[in-house]
Amino acid sequence: MYLKPSSAYVHIPFCTQICYYCDFSKVFIKNQPVDAYLEALSKEFNDYYQIKNLRTLYIGGGTPTAISAKQLDYLLSNLSKNLDLNMLEEFTIEANPGDLTPDKVAVLKESAVNRVSLGVQTFNDKHLRQIGRGHNEAQIYESIDSLKKAGFDNISIDLIYALPNQTMADVRENVAKALALDIPHLSLYSLILEHHTVFMNKMRRGRLNLPTEDLEAEMFEYIISEMETHGFEHYEISNFSKPGFESRHNLMYWDNAEYFGCGAGASGYVDGVRYRNRGPIQHYLKAIKEDGHVRFQEETLSQSEKMEEELFLGLRKKSGVSLQRFEEKFGQTLETVYGPILRELEADGLIVSEKDRIRMTKKGLFLGDTVAEKFILE
Ligand code: SF4
Repeated sequence: MYLKPSSAYVHIPFCTQICYYCDFSKVFIKNQPVDAYLEALSKEFNDYYQIKNLRTLYIGGGTPTAISAKQLDYLLSNLSKNLDLNMLEEFTIEANPGDLTPDKVAVLKESAVNRVSLGVQTFNDKHLRQIGRGHNEAQIYESIDSLKKAGFDNISIDLIYALPNQTMADVRENVAKALALDIPHLSLYSLILEHHTVFMNKMRRGRLNLPTEDLEAEMFEYIISEMETHGFEHYEISNFSKPGFESRHNLMYWDNAEYFGCGAGASGYVDGVRYRNRGPIQHYLKAIKEDGHVRFQEETLSQSEKMEEELFLGLRKKSGVSLQRFEEKFGQTLETVYGPILRELEADGLIVSEKDRIRMTKKGLFLGDTVAEKFILE
């Protein structure tokens, strides 16, 4: 029997500013049909998928807090109106410090949201301006303060390192300031240059002074060691948490579980099919109105693709991949499918086998996706 996913991702594609490095599916909010979008989203969530029983729900973007307090209230009420809230373990919303006004925090407080992920990126005002963010350092503290006062203890921040002109001293300062916030979760990304971004343009014109690869590696190593010294577990390549505060929704992705994806440009994985929704907002609105759903790219995964994903995603976690779970899921042992690759990676000191699991070593985690790519079957 097919079991419905117990996780959902909901996409809010609006932003109050467009950051120079961003290639996410988003638009500048001014003059956008936000009310119509939220209504369509509610139809997709409640009428098309009829979502009722979730363990994790995640609202990302774009910037979910770019919409007004009234719109936020409408969104949160509509997403939770049919949910069994006793079953809902984690309900995360992404927020930007510049947008999180007191009336929006008040709406969050009254809702079922119990986790907030704040896009801090850096504490350095000059760097914030250089990457096109709309907030400043003072607003980061105001946001954290008001969230804590509203009773949120499960708060995460995103930080980006290897920014243009960033030095080791800057990274040290950022980490110290992040630790001083006294929050239980941190996600860490290095700056990636994506196509069609302001930064890529600047890079091509030779006007982006990025740290060298060696300095970037030094920054990553420093951050890991500093976070671990302060009681954070490096539980996934890009994520650190205090015990018990791992992101359950993100662990679901790395466990290669299925999830609903709702909203313009969102991806989902339901009943063995990975799909993508229509992206441009007008196309999304039209499809919901005319067809009731918006899926337009669908791919049914083969057995070997599912196995690749199990490894590719699972190895991102410090806990790695369970041999027993793999066998139960695919009817073959990991050894049968990947024996020679496992030997090679073990010999290179990139993975280790421990009882029922294989997992990446520190060296492996450091190289991240390069190791995971080895599991792609021909
Ligand atoms: S706020 Fe987030 S989604 Fe919006 S432009 Fe910046 S990085 Fe992209």
